[in-house]
Amino acid sequence: MTRLIEELAKLPGIGGKSAQRLAFHIINMPTENAAALAEAITNAKKSIKLCPVCCSITDRDICSICDDPKRDSGVIMVVEDPRDMAAYERTREYRGRYHVLHGTISPINGIGPDKLKIKELLGRISSDVREIIIATNPNVEGEATAMYLSRLLKPLGVKVTRIASGVPIGGDLEYVDDVTLTKALEYRTEM
Ligand code: ZN
Repeated sequence: MTRLIEELAKLPGIGGKSAQRLAFHIINMPTENAAALAEAITNAKKSIKLCPVCCSITDRDICSICDDPKRDSGVIMVVEDPRDMAAYERTREYRGRYHVLHGTISPINGIGPDKLKIKELLGRISSDVREIIIATNPNVEGEATAMYLSRLLKPLGVKVTRIASGVPIGGDLEYVDDVTLTKALEYRTEM
């Protein structure tokens, strides 16, 4: 029981109390449900691999997005993490393809460009690619990574864009921080 609580507490967003509550829930489950949960975890871990094209996670040889002929292969959105890709997929607005870096450049944490899937991204640049949208997070590491990629990609003759960052929809200017206000002004669009 202690071990189960310890393992659950390692999951993101699960504190000690939640871990305990989940552990009690699991031990009260019928045996077959608990076994199904354990098996689902083991199987997911075993069958998940990286897509050889976009480096996202998939249980297929090539992920469903790279494999979809209806998706525009001329536009590639670069994201930090498969979760960011899932977030954009939820919008159902984006019809291009993705590339997952698996992190950001972070000298403090000893993460250099060679630790990210940048080589794989460069390998995808061809005359068919019209635009690379850099959608790393708007924080220090995300901005540094975006700058690095832009310098690397522009000489290859491909259009490089950055997602806008600014005032949140439904927000109130009075309560928005200075950096966000500055970015909102910098990335203003003509109406
Ligand atoms: Zn893929």
